[in-house]
Amino acid sequence: MQSVKYKSKKKLHPTDKELANFIDNKLTSQKRKRLLSHLIYCDSCINIIIETIINSKKK
Ligand SMILES: [Zn+2]
Repeated sequence: MQSVKYKSKKKLHPTDKELANFIDNKLTSQKRKRLLSHLIYCDSCINIIIETIINSKKK
């Protein structure tokens, strides 16, 4: 039987700083692409981004 494990051990999350730069649109297009391809399958990072955006607009 094949084990269909979607979880890869090598799940590198971008750092907080990278996420912050992503939100501020300060990433290079290459980094931005890499981050986006991570966000496609990573809910937790998306949640961080959403929360950060919401918090930054709460003023
Ligand atoms: Zn992630």
